[in-house]
Amino acid sequence: MNSAALQHIIIAGGGSAGWMTAAMLASQLQGNVRITLVESDDIGTIGVGEATIPPIKRFNAMLGIAENDFLARCNGSIKLGIQFENWGAVGERYFHQFGRFAADFDYIPFPYFYLKARLDGMNTPIEQFSAAWQLASRNKFVPPNNDPRSLFSGYDYAYHFDAGRYARFLRDYATARSVVRTEGKIASVQQHAHNGFISQLVLDDGRVISGDFFIDCTGLRSVLLGQTLGVGFTDWGDYLLNDSAVAMQTSADPTLRPYTRSIAHHAGWQWRIPLQTRTGNGNVFSSRFMSDDEATSLLQRSVEGKALTEPRLIRFNTGHRKQFWQKNCVAIGLSAGFLEPLESTSLHLIQRAIMRLVSLFPSAVCAQEDIDEYNATTQLEYEQIRDFIVLHYHATARDDSPYWQYCKQMAIPDSLQQKLALFKRHGHLRIEDKELFKQDSWLAVLLGQNILPAAAAPITHVKTELDIGRTLQAMQRHLADTAATLTGHEQYLMQHCRFIAD
Ligand SMILES: Cc1cc2nc3c(=O)[nH]c(=O)nc-3n(C[C@H](O)[C@H](O)[C@H](O)COP(=O)(O)OP(=O)(O)OC[C@H]3O[C@@H](n4cnc5c(N)ncnc54)[C@H](O)[C@@H]3O)c2cc1C
Repeated sequence: MNSAALQHIIIAGGGSAGWMTAAMLASQLQGNVRITLVESDDIGTIGVGEATIPPIKRFNAMLGIAENDFLARCNGSIKLGIQFENWGAVGERYFHQFGRFAADFDYIPFPYFYLKARLDGMNTPIEQFSAAWQLASRNKFVPPNNDPRSLFSGYDYAYHFDAGRYARFLRDYATARSVVRTEGKIASVQQHAHNGFISQLVLDDGRVISGDFFIDCTGLRSVLLGQTLGVGFTDWGDYLLNDSAVAMQTSADPTLRPYTRSIAHHAGWQWRIPLQTRTGNGNVFSSRFMSDDEATSLLQRSVEGKALTEPRLIRFNTGHRKQFWQKNCVAIGLSAGFLEPLESTSLHLIQRAIMRLVSLFPSAVCAQEDIDEYNATTQLEYEQIRDFIVLHYHATARDDSPYWQYCKQMAIPDSLQQKLALFKRHGHLRIEDKELFKQDSWLAVLLGQNILPAAAAPITHVKTELDIGRTLQAMQRHLADTAATLTGHEQYLMQHCRFIAD
């Protein structure tokens, strides 16, 4: 290592963000840099964050974690997508599947031909062409196969799990790889007089923890980046109205569904996340349109099963810190920003932040070029996900409450406006290379919420030799017939990764 190499990284905070960061840094740095994590049992963690998206599999795999061991220890289940209920219109539902729809036609994406058939009068919902939905709707699960010619190779999956158990699982992993855990409450943060870099954390019992690089994982408090370095917040509350949630756990649903449910109501939506031995429930709402009491009572009235915990209120702001990295401090997790949990993207943003930090790994000097690159790419990532989430609220026929009337009419980001305008012509979607949600995800939500282009893509008119209707019918039949023969989700979990309580 050169003389400017980092010697000691301090991670402040031990929620999912803190322990995911500690585990990955321990694995990547292999003992070459000291790592200390400070967390406070008195303050605790946010205690939600139980639905994920497929890239988490890669994160765990990079740590060398065996999937079945992880699922068994974290009360995990499989997630093939999200069922959205009452979003496009009250009484309607659609599925945002993980992975791709059925096979492309001669290298031309499947959605173009599907849209042509839809515009010509076929009314089969697009989810019928998704292996993920064919499995999910029957409560089935098998991992995708490796044969690229198979219609059961292109779908994907993620997990539901107990967030507290995941953090403990990663804590065991990290501390076994020389990360030092310190319990205590950070009372103040000291900075070097000459450059404002953070120098040490002072705990409320007087202990001092010094380091040369600090990762702020202190959750919504943002003790280091927000409170100490004074980095401001970009608020997206005008696009995404929800600022509150009530969460509670209930006993397990009799049917262990391999998908999350997102059920819209007149001032927000409710989640239902099935774990092996319990269900996570929450009501995400806007305090401008619903009181805390009403939100709590709505949640209590609509959950199924026996209540295992009291309802817990959580407040949040939607948006992000104006910089994610300043001086020798990077914020990861809720301390960096928050986009409401509609598409379960927060743990993913944590994972991306960690990997970006690893690839731009700083010296003790912290080069401004690295900081600028980190901040620009992180901000773009937040904006792209924001647009996808805003789409769910804006592309709706609902106007049955002041909340939905606002959403329908609100000004949306230019980037989303442009995407929608392009789609509405011929069904093209402009997706950037590293954008998280790809064409098939956008299409699931657009069509699920009844947004169709004016005309089919011109290429579909030229390819006249294809019998689109017959091909689509054959695909759908094959998907449905095969899915019906596959293993049930619960049976899969019981066979491979039954929950082990510790
Ligand atoms: C309603 C809701 C639902 C969500 N659902 C999902 C979901 O389904 N999927 C998903 O991916 N994400 C979800 N999230 C986001 C997810 O919960 C968080 O991104 C994730 O848990 C990471 O949180 P964190 O570690 O940043 O913060 P926290 O869990 O709040 O942890 C903060 C840590 O900092 C410590 N700390 C704070 N201050 C101090 C101090 N002064 N001294 C010492 N320690 C301190 C705390 O003790 C704690 O250890 C949801 C969030 C909300 C609000």
